[in-house]
Amino acid sequence: MQSPWDYPDFDDHEVVHFVTDRNTGLKAIIALHSTALGPAAGGCRFWHYDEPADAMRDVLRLSRGMSYKNAMAGLPLGGGKAVILADKQRTKTPELIAAFGKAVDRLGGSYITAEDVGMSVADLVEVSKHTRHVAGLPAAEGAVGGDPGPHTAYGVFLGVKAAVRHALGKDSLDGLHIAIQGAGSVASGLARLAAKEGARLSIADIDEGRVRSLADEVNGTVVSPDQILTLEADVLSPCALGAILTEESIGALRVPVVAGAANNQLATPQDGDRIAARGILYAPDYVINAGGIINVSSEHLGDADEVGVKARIEQIPGRLESIWQESKATGRNPAEVADAMAQRLIGRG
Ligand code: NAD
Repeated sequence: MQSPWDYPDFDDHEVVHFVTDRNTGLKAIIALHSTALGPAAGGCRFWHYDEPADAMRDVLRLSRGMSYKNAMAGLPLGGGKAVILADKQRTKTPELIAAFGKAVDRLGGSYITAEDVGMSVADLVEVSKHTRHVAGLPAAEGAVGGDPGPHTAYGVFLGVKAAVRHALGKDSLDGLHIAIQGAGSVASGLARLAAKEGARLSIADIDEGRVRSLADEVNGTVVSPDQILTLEADVLSPCALGAILTEESIGALRVPVVAGAANNQLATPQDGDRIAARGILYAPDYVINAGGIINVSSEHLGDADEVGVKARIEQIPGRLESIWQESKATGRNPAEVADAMAQRLIGRG
């Protein structure tokens, strides 16, 4: 049998909790990658995995990702993540969610949970009845967290501006052509801010109604989802899916800058080198898209005023610039540099 310490994605995680509750059928894994900077914070994913090993891989990877993301966002938080192993029908009962809340509570604040794929804000409210170690509750529950989308969008907008300044030497998006993949929550916030500054927008989404109404609002052009990655533009902003930057898609890019919100944009670590080899400036995803976590965590950290959140988000461009500077100085690609910086911040460099 393979030793857990030899799991490919095991990265000296501090603690990995396996949770079972016979009464409700709850099976969950809660992984705390690092608490060097504070309690391990990260969402809970409710998902059906074909094999428990897949859940293990997910939780190990995602919790490490949260360590890096929280550290690079300048937050006094470590990185953790939970996965609930759902059945095939993804049956979710209030009792099961309550059992998860109690499991989080037993960890005494070393792990702070939040929303992730398969978990709704309503589920979080249920969780919050059993533990106070939860972030991202709706305002009505006494928190100011609310929807992270607009905050993420603001950070991505500032990050796009920083990239344009670095790569093209321009201080404004006025007259620049930005190709946006996605017309969802973050993409629409970004589109509105960029349009206000005079950018010309091309937008693609598989949801035709959504993309049409966003394009109408920002005076943009609708592009087919097949074409958005190969459009000639000043910036490509991936705001839909992960793993879109592959050997093939990178080879076909016709932009000097890739800067967007989607998580895990690089399909493999080698794609960080491929994009750099093409002379394209890449904004590491978990650095540029940190506005949401900055907002979501603020109420938990007790500095939930809008001014403080905005000020933290406004540090994103400076962080990106220091990554690009170090990348230039060392010849390592920006994604690699960001990981190394995060590792230093959590004392593992
Ligand atoms: P969303 O669900 O509101 O929007 C995503 C959009 O992408 C949807 O409109 C969907 O139809 C579209 N889409 C899916 N497949 C597509 C394809 N092949 N081509 C074009 N469009 C496609 O999601 P969101 O909250 O705007 O998040 C967008 C991305 O940013 C996600 O990858 C998410 O993980 C990441 N992210 C979001 C936040 C946040 O605060 N919401 C924070 C950090 C990272």
